[in-house]
Amino acid sequence: MRNRRAALVAIASAASLALTLTACGQNSEGGSEEDKGGGNDATVGIAMPTKSSERWITDGANVEKELKAKGFKTKLVFGEDDPDQQVSQIENMITQGVDALIVAAIDNKSLGNVLQQAKDADIPVISYDRLILGTENVDYYASFDNEKVGELQGGYIADKLGLKAGKKGPFNIELFAGSNDDNNTRYFFQGAMNVLKPYMDKGQLVVRSKQTALNQVTTLRWDGGTAQKRMDDLLTSSYRSARVDAVLSPYDGISIGILSALKSDGYGSGSKAMPVVTGQDAEIASVKSIKAGQQTQTVFKDLRELAKVAANMVDAVLNDKKPEVNDTKSYDNGSKVVPAYLLQPVSVDKSNYKKVLVDGGYYTEGQLN
Ligand code: BGC
Repeated sequence: MRNRRAALVAIASAASLALTLTACGQNSEGGSEEDKGGGNDATVGIAMPTKSSERWITDGANVEKELKAKGFKTKLVFGEDDPDQQVSQIENMITQGVDALIVAAIDNKSLGNVLQQAKDADIPVISYDRLILGTENVDYYASFDNEKVGELQGGYIADKLGLKAGKKGPFNIELFAGSNDDNNTRYFFQGAMNVLKPYMDKGQLVVRSKQTALNQVTTLRWDGGTAQKRMDDLLTSSYRSARVDAVLSPYDGISIGILSALKSDGYGSGSKAMPVVTGQDAEIASVKSIKAGQQTQTVFKDLRELAKVAANMVDAVLNDKKPEVNDTKSYDNGSKVVPAYLLQPVSVDKSNYKKVLVDGGYYTEGQLN
């Protein structure tokens, strides 16, 4: 039994049962009642990266809800996007005796030591949404098909500009990627490049800034202000006499920064149409922006489902069962290939937000007004 608290209860009750039975002159074989229950009185520590983005607040709430429904107790912490703070939060939860950990890393390489402490205390670890790198002490990974997210963003741009339908261009595009310390960043970027690079190679898509390598386009901690500043600089340096037709943005918060820079430069008014701007997470502000014709697209990832996957994984490992996985080869963290359950992302724009987000029960139309 992985659940240490339940194991202790079981040992204690087996001992008292033994005493009782001994007193009655019987032997104690056969185990205790408590041992059969699966032990969902365990406490699960949940470490989320930040409250500065809506999605992680939703994740925290959903994961707690799913775990509580299974009878677990929870401790939920948010790391304010500070890797050191996250390490000490996890250390504290280990000291407090949590039975399992669900971690969405801030810096995917900063958790090696603290996860060794978890291992030493026999605490299983689920890597949540973002893969933790460089340690064997990650048991399972719950996420989405992250490369597919990028393919949806890149594919949307190619579609919207008419490239897929045979338009030759050339069209001007600028590229943004996420935080370089988040493993997802390179999957998102790779996915987008799978679609966009062939058009770039043929000159149908032109990156006037020439910033095309991942390390030139990352956005530390996914910060919208940082993205806004970079977009301002790009417009000044490369678009005084040209227009930008599309911007690959990996995340809604970054898209909002990009859109602010574009608006300040006159895009979205008069004859200067907004470029195609992608995003991710279907955060409320961005869905509103899509409805208003500013941001063009986002990628919806159903966090209700992700929470269920993570809670099921915890439930299984704490009860000595094998969690359900659907991918055992894609996510090598440098120390091992982490068995994963990957959910499917969905592209959302003005034409289908109602069907996907409102009819799907994720938001009410009222929340999006
Ligand atoms: C998540 C995205 C999110 C981004 C910024 C990534 O790791 O997969 O859903 O947009 O972090 O929070």
